[in-house]
This record gives sequence, structure tokens and C-alpha cells, in this order.
Amino acid sequence: MSCPVTIFKHGRMHPTLPDKSSDAESGPAQAALRHEWVAEIVRPLKPIFLEVIAVSLFVNILALCAPIFTLQVYDRVVFSGGLTTLQGLVIGMILVAAFDFVLRQVRARILQTVALRVDVVVGTRLFEKLMALPLRTLETKPAAFWQLLFRDVEVVRNTLSGASAVLVADLPFALLFLVLIFILATPLGFVLLVVMPIFGFLAWYSARAQQKAAKREKRTLSGRDTLISEMIQGRSTIKALALDDRMRPLWEERTAASIEEAIMRGTKNDTHVNLSASLTMMTNVTLTTVGALFIVAHEMTMGALIASNMLMGRLLGPLNQLVGSWKTYLGFRQSVERLGDIFIAPEELKESRIDLGRPKGELGCEGLTFRYAKDAAPTLDSVNMKVSPGGITAVVGPNGSGKTTLLKVLMGLYPCDSGRVTLDGADIAQFTRRELATWMGYVPQECVLFSGSIRDNIAQGTADASDEQILRASRQAGVHPFIIDLPDGYGTLVGEGGGILSGGQRQRLVLARALVGDPPVLLLDEPSSNLDRRAEEDLARNLIELAKDHTIVMVTHSPVLLSVSNRVVALDKGHILAAGPSSEILPRLFGRPAAAPQPQTPPPAPTTPTPTARGAA
Ligand code: ADP
Repeated sequence: MSCPVTIFKHGRMHPTLPDKSSDAESGPAQAALRHEWVAEIVRPLKPIFLEVIAVSLFVNILALCAPIFTLQVYDRVVFSGGLTTLQGLVIGMILVAAFDFVLRQVRARILQTVALRVDVVVGTRLFEKLMALPLRTLETKPAAFWQLLFRDVEVVRNTLSGASAVLVADLPFALLFLVLIFILATPLGFVLLVVMPIFGFLAWYSARAQQKAAKREKRTLSGRDTLISEMIQGRSTIKALALDDRMRPLWEERTAASIEEAIMRGTKNDTHVNLSASLTMMTNVTLTTVGALFIVAHEMTMGALIASNMLMGRLLGPLNQLVGSWKTYLGFRQSVERLGDIFIAPEELKESRIDLGRPKGELGCEGLTFRYAKDAAPTLDSVNMKVSPGGITAVVGPNGSGKTTLLKVLMGLYPCDSGRVTLDGADIAQFTRRELATWMGYVPQECVLFSGSIRDNIAQGTADASDEQILRASRQAGVHPFIIDLPDGYGTLVGEGGGILSGGQRQRLVLARALVGDPPVLLLDEPSSNLDRRAEEDLARNLIELAKDHTIVMVTHSPVLLSVSNRVVALDKGHILAAGPSSEILPRLFGRPAAAPQPQTPPPAPTTPTPTARGAA
């Protein structure tokens, strides 16, 4: 197979999320981008929202009937004893109530459709985005942040389809009530014209105060959520080391901070809501007083005053709600911005520019430099190496020398700052994550399994894995005998995170998952860290077999695995200290050849080659 030359080089950079707390800081263009996605979601929903507005129009017109009914009862029935009129009016109002109920039901149904669409569209978009984000981006925020995003989807859904949407639809029709008050009792209309701007000011002031308080509360809440998620993840360590006394002050401190902020924000909100309730009461008193004066002067009827009072309630209701709704609105805005930041974050490559076919497995690094943070010292500094197809390359070095990072960069999980990684001579930056995952099997240090059966977990390594592939991979990983020994065999449920299995069993299952798609390259990070000596020797033998037609690069400190390596790369502080055949490098590094694996009883079957220091291809 011919090795395609590098098609292009990326201008590489650290993919991070915009960490802006306000639009002003991030600039108007950035702010617009953060909000653009909501417009995209709402645009197709426009016809549905128009339906909601149309229904709201009729609901509000019907709402005018109750005050008119009262007006008629006071002015035409009570004073003139017109019982027939009363009968007609009551029948009319029953019809109005029935029609009002139907319309409200229709509006609720329509809004349910909005909720469903928003849930599906935003939820799917968020999920796909999370899957497409580079690992470095995912690592820049704590787990609690990513969990919060799914709550943000709920906030967006509830705001676009809940009480706030109804309020927004109802608000313009408040004018209808004002017009009717002007028609029935003009002086009272003027009273309300004076009061309404005061409500407007209160709503605006409340919004400003809430915004500041909400930002502070968000900061404290995220600190508390991070602690909770760490405590949940590290629950066995907390138990084992009896860390509850250490955790309690931390928990109390962060909870107290978040409670304090919540109380402060709640107090402010309550003050504004209560102010608006008092304002409503005073408006009522003023309206009734002014009305009474006009009634005494025979310029207004009793019915007009009572009807106007009722209309005032309908008019001020949405305005009152508006003051209290800022909390919802601000929550919505924050959720939209948080989601917006994610939606505009750069993604990994989705489509490949070239079809490489199955690579032979020649790996290379040219001047590879990588740093975790822009201004930090490089974790890998000008690393040059070439791994020809087949064989086992062991990466050794002290803790923190960059071995795991090197594997992740080779795997394309982290983009390099400068230099490049090549597979069969082609820069891996031009390949998609899916392609790289198909060509390179990766066994990380932390062996994560997902709830489900053993079969499901192994099959995750490749789409539509057949039973044959799963069995082959399990045998290669040395995990098949253990699986068939279980009562439910490959159907055994592994529990949350593979909790029912031992560390060694999990590690071998993860190896089987990496092998199931038969990738030409295998990157193994301490693959025997949880294995006993016997399992380690089995693994060494299996690796020798695999190395005949797979390129294996493994980080290891195990003498058993080192003894079956062909090449060694020694790292120190991100630099290559030494690289070459194991026979040369290992004695230089350790002063003596690494011990060959000593098979335990029973000895390996005669057909199985015993690993030797240079037994690999
Ligand atoms: P090794 O595998 O050789 O023990 P690593 O590659 O894990 O070393 O780490 C190399 C250096 O990079 C260490 O100093 C470590 O602190 C740092 N490092 C590792 N992972 C991260 C990370 N996600 N963010 C920031 N620094 C990291």
C-alpha cells in the first residue's frame, strides 16, 4: 500500500471554551454567536408561536367578558331588577367559560409540542456536540459543568414552553384591558397610565439586581457541584480513608457560600415581588378612591368602577409576574449562553480529506511539542521518533515524564502545538476521530467500562462487532476463559462502571475492546498494572503474537512486558533520553537486561511460544 504524503498541516491551537462572563467582555460578535443558536431553534417554531399568540388573543378577548358581565349586572340588573337580562348574561358567561377552557387547553397542547421539539432538537444537538468536542476541551471544565448543560436544556425547554412563554404571549394584550378601562372609566385609565411606568421601572431595576446576584450565585454553585461530583466519584476512597471529617468542612463551607448567595438573591427577589404587590394594592386603593369621587360626582357608574377594578387586576397581573419572572429569564439567558459557548466551540474533524485505507501501522513524530496550557512549559518537547510497522515499542521513563501524554498525542486525542504525528507517513491531523479510533486501539490507564453486558462492552470497540470478532479479541486479551466461567458468560452485566469486576478483569476487558476491531496499531498505557504475574505473562505471550502484524506502543514498567519489547523509547521531562533496540537501551537504563517472564505452573502449552527477550517479530 502506498503511503500518501501529508496533504496539509493544521495551524494548531489549544481548543478551549470561551470563558467569558459577560457579553461586554466577549464582544458583540461573540455574544451574537452565543445567542444565535436559540434563534435557529425558534425560527422553525415561528408558526407554532403564532398559533399561541392567536389563541392568546382570543383568551384575552374572552377575559374582557367577566368585567363586562359585572358591569352589566351592577348597572342593568341590580338597580333595575332585570332578571331576564341576568339569565341571558349568566348563560353567556357559561359559554364564555367553556370556550375559555377549550382555548387554554389548546394553548397548553401547542406549548407541549414546543417543549418536545426543543427537548429533542437541543438535547440531540448538545449530545452530538459533546461527542464532537476535542478531549482537551472536555478536560478544561469539571464534570459538574457538563452535567449542568443537560439541566440547561431543561431550562430552555421550560422557558420556551412554560409560564414565561404564556406571559410573553399575554403581555401585549394587556393593552386591550387598558383600552377598555379608558372606554368604561376614562379617569381610571389615566391613573393606570401613571402606575404602569412605575411597574416597568421596578421590573427593570429588579432585573439588574437579579443579574448581579445570579452571577455570584452561579460561581458558588459550581464550586459546590464540583465538590459533590468529586465526592461521588471518590466515594470508595472517602470510605476507605474515613475522610468524612475532612470532607465535612469543605462541604459546609461551599454549601454555606451557595446558601448565602441564594438567600441574598432570594431576599432581593422577594423585596421586589413584595414591592410590586404593595404597588398593586396602592393602585387598587387609588383607583377605587378616584372612582368613588367620580361616582359621587355622578360622572361614573358603580358598575364601571367595579369592572375597571377587575380589568386592572388583569392588566397588572402580567406586569407583576414580569417582576418575578426575571429570575426565570436570567436563568434562561445563562443557560442559553452556556450552551452557546459549547455550540460555538471548535469541533474535531468530521470528514476526512483522504481515504487512507487500513494503514500498515508506521507511526512517527516529527518535532512534536505539546503543552497542556498555552503559557506552560512543554510536556513533550521536540520529540522525534519513528516506529516501523509491527513489533513492540516500550515507552519508559519516570513518573510525569510525559509517557501517557505521548500516547494520547499519538492517538490524536491531543493536537500538538508544533510538529506532527504521522501514520504511514500521513499527518494524523487530517483524519477523523472515528478513523483514528478504528486504526489505533487504545488501552488507557483508567479502565472504564459502561453499564451493560460484557459482550456490549467489548463490542463498543467497533460498530456491529460479530461474535467471532468478540471471541477472537477476548482470547487475544486473555479474558475469554474468565468470561465463560461466569454463569451468564458474555451476557454478564458488569454494573455501573464495571463495578462488579476486579481491576485486572476490567483491564483485560478494555484490552479486548481495543482489539475487537483488529486495529493495526495498539497503544497500551500500563496494560499490566492490575494483572497478576501469571496474567502478565499470558499478556506478554499474546502481545508477541499480536506484534507479528500489529504495531504495539506501550507504556510499561513491567520487566515481563519490557522483556518482550523490540524497541525502547526512554522519556525524561518530555524529551527523548534514549531510543533504540531493547537489547541496547534496557541494559543502559537498568544496568542489566530485563528479566524474561517466568511462567508459573502449569507451564504454557508447548504450542504457545514462550516469550523471550527478543521473541517479537
Ligand atoms: P507519565 O505518564 O510519564 O507519568 P503524564 O504524561 O501523565 O506522565 O504527565 C506528564 C506531565 O503532564 C505531568 O507533569 C502532569 O502533571 C502533566 N499533566 C498530565 N495530564 C494533565 C492534564 N490533563 N492537565 C494538565 N497537566 C497534565
